[in-house]
This record gives sequence, structure tokens and C-alpha cells, in this order.
Amino acid sequence: MATARIPIPIKPEEDLNSFRIAMRQFDTAAEKCGLEPGLREVLRRPRRSLSLSLPVKMDDGTIRVFDGYRVQHSSARGPCKGGIRYHPNVTFDEVKALASWMTWKCAIVNIPFGGAKGGIVCDPRQLSKNELEHLTRRYAYEISPIIGPDKDIPAPDVYTDAQTMAWIMDTYSMTHGSSAPGVVTGKPLFLGGSFGRNEATARGCLFVIRSACEVTGIKLNRATVAIQGFGNAGSIAAELLAQNGATIIAVSDSRGGILNRAGLNVTALLEHKAKTGSVVGLPNSDPISSEDVLELQCDILVPAALENQITLENVDRIQARIVAEAANGPTTPDADIVLYKRGVLVIPDILANAGGVTVSYFEWVQDLQELFWDEDDVNRRLERVMVKAFADVHSASKKYDVDMRTGAYVVGIERVANATRTRGIWP
Ligand code: NAD
Repeated sequence: MATARIPIPIKPEEDLNSFRIAMRQFDTAAEKCGLEPGLREVLRRPRRSLSLSLPVKMDDGTIRVFDGYRVQHSSARGPCKGGIRYHPNVTFDEVKALASWMTWKCAIVNIPFGGAKGGIVCDPRQLSKNELEHLTRRYAYEISPIIGPDKDIPAPDVYTDAQTMAWIMDTYSMTHGSSAPGVVTGKPLFLGGSFGRNEATARGCLFVIRSACEVTGIKLNRATVAIQGFGNAGSIAAELLAQNGATIIAVSDSRGGILNRAGLNVTALLEHKAKTGSVVGLPNSDPISSEDVLELQCDILVPAALENQITLENVDRIQARIVAEAANGPTTPDADIVLYKRGVLVIPDILANAGGVTVSYFEWVQDLQELFWDEDDVNRRLERVMVKAFADVHSASKKYDVDMRTGAYVVGIERVANATRTRGIWP
């Protein structure tokens, strides 16, 4: 007798390609806000993409060639703006996705920039400072025809920092014959950087977490927090959230995670990381994996590392009530649907980490005026921008009855579409 075959339920394969994810998010929101088909085609693609081969003479005399990219998604609202990432997993599609997220991000915080992003496929931890400088200068030279203070303004991202920006600024200035501090942001203070820029991404994240606590009824000073990634965004978020009374129960970096349910001592943690290069091994903490950090019982989860961390595979185990995406693209669209149905408030990347580009804008304004503000002034202005952006996104999500990510996209798309429509399609 033949037995009936019972189909084994399997989770559908998820598409983890960042650019297709960005387009899917865009299409969902464009549909909701009724964007006309012509503009939809214009805004879902990058305006200009540059793909580069970057030869570098290494310290041992050999020559290596690295792949690099710069993608400008939109300049409808002003010069393009976006960071530069150094990572072995950088791909052209990832850079395209990140460039489009910059466009929506700048529009959501209502600063007069379009979106761009750059990347080099490399592992900067395997390169000497000398090799990094040569790679950075070659990249800066190759992209210099399309960047500039009124064209496209790079900034730091994963594994790039104020030193990287100083090299780019110098290369651009040397080849253009005059000093151009406004060509990059995230520079050292003494080279035209801004007070508060280093902390801006995390501080902006803190401001929107506070707003999210208000709408969800969570008390930040009694909240427990887990943070994945302990670089610029994650480590400063830990510091600021702890200063605001939250208990940081777990953090991780590329080498692993640590947990103390009673709360990690963040000051000791920052010292430990500065001394050893990792969070792993902090006294009075238990080792856990970086993936486990995401799945802990806590009020607020801050992914602050890389893309595709919350997926269909682990979303059912996410226990946080608020997910504040300091990182770009940590949640897949399918996982988003699950979190929304479960009532988890996701503060999407294009809102949660927009503090970085906001203070980059302040830095650019100060450079152009050659007039510099104090830190309180920067932070006050940042708070005003972030609180307003959260309110705009929250009310769009209520108006269209959608999750916060789609609400954020709707706010961004409507502003960019309005600018594009009004400028017209040239010629
Ligand atoms: P960073 O290079 O300073 O830090 C990255 C951190 O992630 C490091 O601690 C690294 O060890 C950790 N990491 C890498 N792989 C990991 C893994 N598998 N598990 C756990 N941790 C891992 O970079 P950053 O500037 O803090 O950027 C982090 C995220 O924030 C990125 O998605 C970036 O695009 C986003 N972001 C940063 C800024 C900014 O101003 N720095 C602005 C907006 C968005």
C-alpha cells in the first residue's frame, strides 16, 4: 500500500543580495505611496557607478590589484553623500544598496544631500599603514573626477576612519591645487572636522531610541540592551545608552560576544577593547557567540555590525521589543514582516543611523563657512533633527498602516520624488 507523502515544511530560501533587498524595500514603499511608474524607474537605480582596479606596491615589493567602487544613487536634493567601506566582502551590489539607502536617509533627516557610497574589497587588518595609505590615495585619485565639496562628499564607514579621510582630503587637495576640507567629512578636528562627528551615529541612535521608548512605554533607564558590533557605532552607543541609565547586558565584535545579565561595566569594557583589540575576555563576563547576542532576552537590540544578521533563520528567536538598526541593512525583508507581525518596533537603519550623515552635513557647512560650532551646539541641532525625523517616520507608518521601515521609505521617497519631479528630467 502506498503511503501518502507528507511534505516536510522548509523555510523558503531568502534572497540576501543587498541591492535586490533595497529594491524590494523601495518597491513596497513606492507602491504604498502611489509613486508614478516613470519616477519609480528613475529612483530605483543608481545615477552613476564607477568600478575601479587599484594597483598598490606592497611593502615587500610585490604588486597587488584591489577592486574598488563609488556609486552615486541620486543628486536630486543636493551633492551626493556617503561613506567608504573597506571589507573583504564588499561587492558592487552591496555598494549600490548602501548608496540608495544614503539617498533615503538624507531625505528622511531633511538635509540637502543625495546618496552615494564607496567600497574597496580588502582586509585592512592585513595591510600595513603604508599600504593602506597607498591604496586610499590611489582610490581617492581615481574617484576625484566625480567627487568634490559640491559634487559628492565621502565619509568613514566600516574599517575606515579620520585618518582615511585625511588621506583622501590631501590627495584631492594636492591634485586640485588648493586645500579642500569640504571634500570629505569625518576628518580629524584639527583638519576641519566637527565636534560630535565621531559620536554622531551613536548619539543619533540614542535620540531615536528615546523616542521609540516613549511610543512603546519602555523606560530607558530600566531597559536592558544587547549590541552586536563594537566599533564606532556600537561602542559609542553602549557608552551613551549606559550614561542614560540602560543596562548593557551583552556586546560582540568579529571575534565573539560577552554576556553579563547584571550589566557589563562599559568603562572597563572600553578600556579592555582599547588594550586587547576585542571585547572578548572582559573580566566578569561570560563568552557567547556573536549570533547569540541577537537572541537574548532584552528590551532593546542594537545591531551595529553588518548586513543580513536578522533573517528568516533566526527571527523567531529574537526577543527584543525594540530593534534599533545602527548598522545598515541588518534585517532582511522577510524577517521584517515577522517582527512587524509580532509587534516589535524596528527603528530602520535609514532613520536609526542617520545621525552620522546629519553631523557630516554640519561638518560640511562649518567647512564651507570656515566657522566652527561647539559640541553642545552640534548635539542640540542633532537632537532636533533626529526627534523630528522619528516623528515624521512614525506618523507616516501610522498614516499608511505599515512598519517603520516602509514609513521611513515613504518619507524619503516623497521628498526625493518631489525634488526630481520639480527639477524635471534633463534634457
Ligand atoms: P567599525 O569598523 O567602526 O566597526 C565595525 C564593528 O563590527 C567592529 O567592532 C567589528 O569587530 C564588528 N563586526 C564585524 N563583523 C562582525 C560579526 N560578524 N559579528 C559581530 N561584530 C562584527 O564600523 P562602524 O562605523 O561602527 O559601522 C558599523 C555599522 O554601522 C555598518 O553597518 C555601517 O554602515 C553603519 N554606519 C556607520 C556610520 C558611522 O558613522 N560610522 C554611520 C552610519 C551607519
